[in-house]
Amino acid sequence: MTKDSMDTTPATPPRSPATEAVHAGREDLAALGLHTAPLDLSTTYPSHDSRAEAARLDEFAATGARLEGPPVYARLDNPTVARFETALARLEGTESAVAFASGMAALSAVLLARVAQGLRHVVAVRPLYGCSDHLLADGLLGTEVTWTDPAGIAGAVRHDTGLVMVETPANPTLSELDLDAVARACGPVPLLVDNTFATPVLQRPAEHGARMVLHSATKYLGGHGDVLGGVVACDEGTARELRRIRFATGGVLHPLAGYLLLRGLSTLPVRVRAQSANAAELARRLAGDPRVARVHYPRIGGAMVSFEVHGDPHRVIAGVRLITPAVSLGSVDTLIQHPGSISHRIIGEDNRRTGGIGEKLLRMSVGLEDVEDLWHDLDAALAGASGTEGGAEAAAGEGAGDLRGLSSPRRREPERAGR
Ligand SMILES: *Cc1c(COP(=O)(O)O)cnc(C)c1O
Repeated sequence: MTKDSMDTTPATPPRSPATEAVHAGREDLAALGLHTAPLDLSTTYPSHDSRAEAARLDEFAATGARLEGPPVYARLDNPTVARFETALARLEGTESAVAFASGMAALSAVLLARVAQGLRHVVAVRPLYGCSDHLLADGLLGTEVTWTDPAGIAGAVRHDTGLVMVETPANPTLSELDLDAVARACGPVPLLVDNTFATPVLQRPAEHGARMVLHSATKYLGGHGDVLGGVVACDEGTARELRRIRFATGGVLHPLAGYLLLRGLSTLPVRVRAQSANAAELARRLAGDPRVARVHYPRIGGAMVSFEVHGDPHRVIAGVRLITPAVSLGSVDTLIQHPGSISHRIIGEDNRRTGGIGEKLLRMSVGLEDVEDLWHDLDAALAGASGTEGGAEAAAGEGAGDLRGLSSPRRREPERAGR
């Protein structure tokens, strides 16, 4: 948004996301005589002035504002994690961000903050990430959920609705929502958008009216498959509620994870663009392949491709050699998994069907490998999976017909996922 605005005032002009990715959260380093962000692993910090500490703790307990001055205790505040929060907020275009131990810890904090306000009802649109679905459906934190489609959001809101939650592109079908329309339907109820798949490189939900933007930072933000984390980008008022919950419940991000996530952000725009180019090419080839019944690839692009095979999806998983058969996503290398068996196993078959997650569906997170090498591997795995039963199963059309709002399995173009 800010990239092409020609600000002629002497103040610092708005910076593009590419610049923010490598500089946000590090502005003070040069003055400190440093080049890279320091990693502070302290659990506690010395202070001889306990009266002053008392005042600062009172202030935090009352407001949830970030502590001024030196940290006190690592569950309250950590300078390395704070740098990651600052940088992510800048990339999402929000005032603040609050980091957590994982994406699920971040979502839990949001739900607990709502329940603490007496607003225990959540309106949500399927599909969601399997564990998010499970957390809401089982009411493990005392929430009650109403599942609806986007058109039903306004009608599902009650006096005690504290949150509307959506995911777009959604895990694992990559179906997309019109965020402006969803935000309008929410009225005054805060909208949380899980932006894990798109990343702020492709989509900034706050610009479309989302009050909270959730990430499993484990995925693209970290980007290398070696750090677990979560974050909520939001306005400062919401951030204060979340910090108080985080302090009280302890789901903090480890400083080393904060360090790795800050480093991950610096290459996020480059990684997402390069991985998306690979994914778009694989989606195109899969869409033209007779062994593939349907391909889902989002309108906004991205590095995730889902597809349904005519043959046995489990044999595709068993057949890959370069691609790693594993859950999770967003790393520099390519992963493939069967949502019905792994990422969305916990929600049960009926809920999978409602969410359009068929038994033939495979979800692939495309990495930075050479696209020809990836295609070679995928092509061999597909050949192994469709050798004997491809034709018969294709005729049965199992699974494919269940997917909402999507077109004929015979299509040759990558499926641009429906609303
Ligand atoms: C992985 C994931 C989560 C959960 O994040 P964790 O870091 O594994 O706790 C939430 N939402 C989406 C879309 C995900 O892919």
